[in-house]
Amino acid sequence: METAYQVPTYAKIPIAIERGDGPYVWDARGTRYIDFYGGHCVAILGHSPKRVVEAIKKQAETLIFYSNIVYNSTRAAAARLVAESAPAGLNRVFFCNSGTEANETALKVARKATGKSTILAMEGGFHGRTLGSLAVTHGPKYREPYRTILPPTVFVPFGDARAVQHTLSTNPDIAAVILEPIQSMAGVRMADSEYFQNLEAACAANGALLIFDEIQTGCGRTGRFSYADIVGITPSIITLAKSLGSGVPVGAMIVHEDVVPSIESGDQGSTFGGGMLAMAAVVATLETIRDEDLASRALMIERRLVDALKPVAVEIRGSGCLLGVEVPGRASDVVGALRSNGLLVGGSGDPNTFRVMPPVNCPESVLDEAIGILTETLSSERVVS
Ligand code: PLP
Repeated sequence: METAYQVPTYAKIPIAIERGDGPYVWDARGTRYIDFYGGHCVAILGHSPKRVVEAIKKQAETLIFYSNIVYNSTRAAAARLVAESAPAGLNRVFFCNSGTEANETALKVARKATGKSTILAMEGGFHGRTLGSLAVTHGPKYREPYRTILPPTVFVPFGDARAVQHTLSTNPDIAAVILEPIQSMAGVRMADSEYFQNLEAACAANGALLIFDEIQTGCGRTGRFSYADIVGITPSIITLAKSLGSGVPVGAMIVHEDVVPSIESGDQGSTFGGGMLAMAAVVATLETIRDEDLASRALMIERRLVDALKPVAVEIRGSGCLLGVEVPGRASDVVGALRSNGLLVGGSGDPNTFRVMPPVNCPESVLDEAIGILTETLSSERVVS
């Protein structure tokens, strides 16, 4: 029925997921899978986590929605929690409903704050599919049909600080540099701390804002609330979505206090952004991650997975519960084989890399079982390839 009634924009895997509980999902036939895909890097606490379920149940009975025209205690709590979790200085938040909307908002803020128009983005970067975010998403597959109407963007290779420095110093119209600190969709591509520190300095020297798209890396998944804290820099803006509401749609743009004065009443708005149901999910999600120190646990999960998979993989990249596993053969074959063996993982834009995105609260016993499936499958796939 979905194929009959939805527009054909999604390439689907041939299963119908009908139920989830923690690290597990079940399909319509009752087959159980360990879910290290998380509905595309969303289920940071696994599926239907109890504390989040209780919070949204209670909120639904109290008040499902009221817009930003009034004050509300749940929204206030969510805004404070996000601001207090973010790197020092990033202390104001705008709530919206998705990742692409958070990035669009960040690009607008950067343009107004600097009075410039062009955005510098990274080859391989992914920031969303609506027009503003599409302008900074790399790759002809996404952009080509809409090229003529996209706002001006310059692309440079990810990881090349000199290219950023050169572009900023020769193009006076760059309003912002936007990047994913770990390029997830591109195959979990990493850069070192020095690169990010050079970017921060180059932006400051040339009057451009630095926007960290932490839609995949944020909320504790990679070991800290923000990957900016891992590489020791302070971006002007951080965007979040995916994990933020454990699957209840919500996005956020967090702004540095130096940028806040450029933002005025009416600059941005969203009817549903900051709605109570989503805010209750944000509070429950972030409080759980904080109270149970799950960002540290993400790093323990990384160590377990890396130690186990090193002997059977070409390379493992990433941080915490966002890992890319490079294999000698086609990653899509491995993803299919893992699914047949009861483990869901994600593909990527790199044909040799698949992504492992476990929940940060994954129990040891489930991790052991998943590691067993991964090592066995990769060992046999390696022989085949
Ligand atoms: N930015 C990154 C890094 C993403 O991975 C995604 C989605 O996959 C987006 C932005 C867009 O988010 P959304 O699909 O919620 O609009």
